[in-house]
Amino acid sequence: MNRKLYDKLIFELSKPGRCGYSLPHGDNDDTLAQLPAGLLRLDAPALPEVDEPTVVRHYNNQSTNNFGVDTGFYPLGSCTMKYNPKINELLASDSTLTALHPQQPVETVQGVLEVYWNLQRALSEIGGMADFSLNPFAGAHGELTGMLVIRAYHESRNDSARRRVIIPNSAHGTNPASATIAGYDVVEVQSLADGTVDVEDLKSKLDETVAAVMMTNPNTAGMFEKNIPEIASMVHAAGALLYYDGANLNPMLGIVRPGDMGFDVMHINLHKTFSTPHGGGGPGSGPVGVRAGLEQFLPRPHVVKAADGSFSINCDDCSLGRVSSWMGNFSVIVKALAYIMTMGNDGLCQVGPLATLNANYVMNALNDLYKQPVAGPCKHEFVFDGLADKSTGVTTLNVAKRLLDLGFHAPTIYFPLLFHESLMVEPTETESIETLDNFIAAMRQIAIEAHETPELVKSAPHDTPMAHPDETEAAMNPRLTYSDLCK
Ligand SMILES: *Cc1c(COP(=O)(O)O)cnc(C)c1O
Repeated sequence: MNRKLYDKLIFELSKPGRCGYSLPHGDNDDTLAQLPAGLLRLDAPALPEVDEPTVVRHYNNQSTNNFGVDTGFYPLGSCTMKYNPKINELLASDSTLTALHPQQPVETVQGVLEVYWNLQRALSEIGGMADFSLNPFAGAHGELTGMLVIRAYHESRNDSARRRVIIPNSAHGTNPASATIAGYDVVEVQSLADGTVDVEDLKSKLDETVAAVMMTNPNTAGMFEKNIPEIASMVHAAGALLYYDGANLNPMLGIVRPGDMGFDVMHINLHKTFSTPHGGGGPGSGPVGVRAGLEQFLPRPHVVKAADGSFSINCDDCSLGRVSSWMGNFSVIVKALAYIMTMGNDGLCQVGPLATLNANYVMNALNDLYKQPVAGPCKHEFVFDGLADKSTGVTTLNVAKRLLDLGFHAPTIYFPLLFHESLMVEPTETESIETLDNFIAAMRQIAIEAHETPELVKSAPHDTPMAHPDETEAAMNPRLTYSDLCK
């Protein structure tokens, strides 16, 4: 493999004896002497030996091989990769917050507890719920917590016959996974041609063995589920609870509240909607909210406010217990509250309409060349079923790879599973019309290339450090270390 100097691993740049930093002698020897002999390693670790400029250049060059929201347009459907204001990062990294210890006496962290409490209240207002727990670490973790809340509710009523959770076939894969981990059997409900839930099919599956129905709105095809009030009364009449997967809350902020639609339990992805970028393995946060009457089933610890205005941490064990160490990812919680407070009521209410406008603008500028499987306006995102003209042999994967050459992150592809060639775009509200126009131009160029120079599209990308990794091999035999690479 002929790679550029700085595409190499730091180990490959190593030269024996070369040194970029020297530790003071003496002190560290004393420290070593204090360690039990049995814990000391016998050989020195095989660290790379490089000079300081090489280290600096290596990591700076590595960082530019990555594509992020800060480097370009990132229209990844189902992920809300919007721009997150840097001031919120600045606030969350303030040393008065990062230097705290979770076991500090509560009198010394009243302001921190107020941050938790204010966010619990703000999310309850936004969701139309009675209370929120900020403890779960991710969307899927919130779903699992929500399912455990629902299980605890049925158990409290000695209702042990409810073994099943109904989930639409358009749902995010985490929904069936979370219900299964919570101990439930998953039943799939079909979607209609417009991508929304088939209410008749749902009705036929509802009975006294159903614990909950999980729904996403707007759903993963970017469609608004109009029948939620009807669905909610059917679900409640059957004795089950209605769960809202709030990962797609962005277009609904301030416009519609899940609690008002009839949902009983919900989660929100703070790392999508509320100023933490999604992806990269975290940190994330998936707070869970419940309607009045279910508060006692929320996990502990939970921040409460006393009549005298002081804050404390409720650790009673009357709930389903803990779902996380301490109280979730505090830095994400700080960013979310900062975002909500700086946006204010009016700002938050503009998010959804702008995200929806941007998605419809892009969809309508492309649906002559790409197949739009669901007619009508979308919400915050839309799905194409590949190119309109299938005769060129150019697939959704090819289109996504070619976009990399043109300076864009690829959209979500082959999800949702409702269509064969799904290509899912979520522009978000934070992109300018110029960015959207550039993206539209790139997508149109690719559709034309698919006719005129199909090989150019099929062999893309041409400009990335890596083009066609063997994804199966990478998943089955990951090489994660330098010594793996040498095998
Ligand atoms: C992102 C997403 C999830 C899962 O959230 P994670 O934080 O990735 O676990 C669940 N449902 C929907 C609809 C999503 O878009």
